[in-house]
Amino acid sequence: MVLLMADPQELVDDSQEPKYDKLWCWKCRGHTDYRMVTHVHHGEHTTVRIKFHCQDCNKTMHKPQDMDLAFYGKWGRVLIWAYFLMAVLGIYYLAIFFLRKEIQYKEFRLIMGFMAFICLVIPVGVLVRAFIKYATWKKWAQDRGWKEPSAKERAWKNENS
Ligand SMILES: [Zn+2]
Repeated sequence: MVLLMADPQELVDDSQEPKYDKLWCWKCRGHTDYRMVTHVHHGEHTTVRIKFHCQDCNKTMHKPQDMDLAFYGKWGRVLIWAYFLMAVLGIYYLAIFFLRKEIQYKEFRLIMGFMAFICLVIPVGVLVRAFIKYATWKKWAQDRGWKEPSAKERAWKNENS
């Protein structure tokens, strides 16, 4: 119905028009139509996560801004640095603690490796993944005439400083 009544101009595929704050599908390469899926995890704490899936390929979609570090502003970057500092210090003190306990070197290596993986490798992986995702979208958007605003302009609007 809508299709029949719409002006031919409006039928132009607007999924190819870059929008920084609109969901994008990294597989289909476009701001495709999506559906919202609510994931509820019943555990000790019930958590609800809302995800957006592409109508065409069913992949999870994200907004380019969510993948852009500049969007989180100065305080976002401060938080990330603070986290890594704490994680490294935490692992360092844990290492000293375990060395004093005279546990076997093999076990020690296992525990430290596990801690480093959880606290450092995974977060770095998440950051790198976001970086690549944003770069992918940016290239696509720039091919379509999008110009990247400065980091300050891209920062989350409510940032005060
Ligand atoms: Zn898709």
